[in-house]
Amino acid sequence: MDPLYKDCTLLHVDADGFFAAVEQALNPALRGRPVVTGAERGIIAAASYEAKALGIKRGLQLHEAQRLCPELVILPSDYEAYSLVSRRLYAVVRRFTPLVEEYSIDEAFADLTGCGDILACPLESVAEQLRNAVSAELGFTVSVGISLTKTLSKLCSKFRKPNGQTVLRREHVPVMLKRTPVAKVWGIGPASAAKLQALGVVTAFDFTRMDEAAVLRLLHKPGHETWRELQGRRVFPLELSAKRSYDSMMKGHTFSPPNADPTFIFSEALRNMGAAMAKLRRHAHLAKEIGLSLRLKDYTGQTAGARLPCPTSHDCEAAPVLRALFDALFTPGRTYRSTLVWFGGLVAERNRQPDLFEETPQRHDYGKLDAAVDRINRRYGQNAVAPAALLDRRLKPAHSRDAAPARYDTLLRGETGRHLAIPRLTLANPV
Ligand SMILES: [Mg+2]
Repeated sequence: MDPLYKDCTLLHVDADGFFAAVEQALNPALRGRPVVTGAERGIIAAASYEAKALGIKRGLQLHEAQRLCPELVILPSDYEAYSLVSRRLYAVVRRFTPLVEEYSIDEAFADLTGCGDILACPLESVAEQLRNAVSAELGFTVSVGISLTKTLSKLCSKFRKPNGQTVLRREHVPVMLKRTPVAKVWGIGPASAAKLQALGVVTAFDFTRMDEAAVLRLLHKPGHETWRELQGRRVFPLELSAKRSYDSMMKGHTFSPPNADPTFIFSEALRNMGAAMAKLRRHAHLAKEIGLSLRLKDYTGQTAGARLPCPTSHDCEAAPVLRALFDALFTPGRTYRSTLVWFGGLVAERNRQPDLFEETPQRHDYGKLDAAVDRINRRYGQNAVAPAALLDRRLKPAHSRDAAPARYDTLLRGETGRHLAIPRLTLANPV
């Protein structure tokens, strides 16, 4: 193995201003201009670097941002496009190593252990090749960090942003930690940072010099794990697969203005459930659990989950459980802004243990009903056929932010349909 790769093999890649950057990559007219996404929520979800230079950042109210920059381009979020591009980003990382964790829509961890002979170049060139491949083929930039552990590589990718790279080998770790405020370390939240600062622990380096027992006492297991990772001892493994299928069976939607009507809010939750269920069937999976999150106007939320009566992908079997969760969570008189439904405990349809007593004629009919509804909706659009309760969504007054992304009827390069989950990729420079 290339001695250069010895124990410094954990790579973190983080796209720069991802949502806004994707919008600019897809629409050349937006390049070089201040662009933000999040029009549908009224607050900024992502800002391009041109917008950031004007002091506009994530979480800012749109009207405040417009005051800072009247010519700001404000777009609704197009999560479908972002997740398509996100998969292309992961695919580029996989050319360097098969060990890739899809950490979030715009971040991935990868392990280069054992790749020294194949890549046959210094780690600095690996980072550079990765950055160049993404910007040439996908049209936006990423920042790359390579170090001993996940926590250190995440510090590195943030160190020079945008379009930067940092390789941090063991001998230089203390230098980096001395210039990093402890509050900037991944895994140290504001509460932990405050506790540490009260003890005079200011930098990440100070933190690593703390006594092990004191760390455990003060911050318990999670803080202790971060303490070890900062010292270059690997605690967090790569999570290679599980997360992805789990995440993909989740549907959420924010409505504006916020609403207090239970009939309307339940119909929103039901619509999300239907969309997640259709996705579950498309991937030939069944769920054992269902969860519901209701988010209040002030962005605080409540979540509850329950087991389904049996592993299922039928709307008719999940809807009563969703109703019960909703009734338990919903507080009359409070104003809500979004609902989110997720399915957990997923099993592939073909691995299911058939149960003699659950194969009732009624279940067979549910299957036929769902298949027919899916066929119609695929052909005529989402919710062409839907539960009558979805009509209650019309209770909501129309709002200018409801507009769908403008590109909804155009296709991206490589797409054959806007709702097709699997893109056909055409790579400019296949390796
Ligand atoms: Mg990012």
